[in-house]
Amino acid sequence: MDLEEFRTRGKEMVDYIIEYWETIEQRRAYPAVQPGYLRPLIPDSAPHEPESFADLMADIERVIMPGASSPACTELETVMLDWLGKMLNLPEDFLVEAGGEGGGVVQGSASESTLVALLAARKKMITQMQAKCPDLGEHTIMSKLVAYTSEEAHSSVERAGMIASIKMRKLPTDEKFCLRGETLRQALEEDKALGLIPFYFCATLGTTSSCAFDNIMELGPICNSENIWMHIDAAYAGSAFICPEFRPLLNGVEFSDSFNFNPQKWLLVNPHCSALWVKRRSEFIGAFKMDHIYLSQDHQNSGLVTDYRHWQIPLGRIFQSLKMWFVFRMYGIKRLQEYIRKHVCLAHEFESLVRQDGRFEIENDVILGLVCFRMKGSNELNEDLIQRINKMGKIHIVPCRLRDKFVLRFALCAETVESKHVQYAWQNIKEIATDLEKDHQ
Ligand code: PLP
Repeated sequence: MDLEEFRTRGKEMVDYIIEYWETIEQRRAYPAVQPGYLRPLIPDSAPHEPESFADLMADIERVIMPGASSPACTELETVMLDWLGKMLNLPEDFLVEAGGEGGGVVQGSASESTLVALLAARKKMITQMQAKCPDLGEHTIMSKLVAYTSEEAHSSVERAGMIASIKMRKLPTDEKFCLRGETLRQALEEDKALGLIPFYFCATLGTTSSCAFDNIMELGPICNSENIWMHIDAAYAGSAFICPEFRPLLNGVEFSDSFNFNPQKWLLVNPHCSALWVKRRSEFIGAFKMDHIYLSQDHQNSGLVTDYRHWQIPLGRIFQSLKMWFVFRMYGIKRLQEYIRKHVCLAHEFESLVRQDGRFEIENDVILGLVCFRMKGSNELNEDLIQRINKMGKIHIVPCRLRDKFVLRFALCAETVESKHVQYAWQNIKEIATDLEKDHQ
């Protein structure tokens, strides 16, 4: 959509909302639809080609308004998570459409997804242990539980452990910042020998610092054979898996119990939108399900449709899936793939500019839209470099530490970014580096 069309559509939307308020007294307060009404009204997968805004608005009246906010809000979310799951080519085990136990839900953030998966895994293990040894108290079991992640995982994983009062062991990675199966296996042996109970592992696909990928093909079978809940955090990288050429990075997802990524990061869906899929919903909701009289009055259909209040920490929900529906249809899979590919291509353009300048070095395998680079030399030199870049205010760069190195991260984020912006950024970085060299002589 160009900016002029954007303005026109925005005005139409405001008119629609005003018309809704003007006619609100003629509308039903309680919908007359049956559970499951929505799925047959829309296609079973996202369109490949973009659709028109007019078609979408017509469907708001045809599909959404008869179901008001509820059950339309729930039902559209279930279908959108199936659409998105199919765009990623997730195993059928994760899709509601397949008729099994799997399904997806929108969470507020990747941090919440990691936490709720951890809480579900904790509940599952406590239940299993108590079934085996009914005399074991919950506190005794809790004190022995141990969860795992890599030292490159996002801080939210460690924080989930802190919130859930669970020991979170951070394991070392290989030279590519990737966690390998053998490292996990050794840690499990050590902990089991100490009488601890391993129960949860959070893998990362696309780490925040360097966009590294844990080896889930090695890690997954170990988790499965050791009865460990494997959660995958692909907060940033997950969007790229809609492109067939990047989908192999997700191979091994079939071993996981839950998988999450943020369409709000790199799939043009506005926050909050973090998509979480689970393989076995009964295990997952075990940690959150609690019924109360004031919730049952309005829920005579409970059990017939997915009841998302049992899939999350908050009780109330907002209509996040409308945003997904609009984005998937207005862009189509084709344009979303083009958007991801453009960013990856521009990342490689930046990488090659850096490689041509002997003063710099690249610190990661550039796989998606993130380039980790630095000037050859001390950390102090690079700290000075980033300070000068950010102080100038023309481009913004966030650093990270890889092992003992201070590294700059060039991240492609904006929808409108073009080659000329990459060239502009590099030109600025080069000039600042030249000044820096003079000052450090
Ligand atoms: N996991 C990874 C790999 C991330 O890169 C990030 C944020 O950058 C997060 C988790 C946290 O995401 P959120 O802000 O949605 O909690």
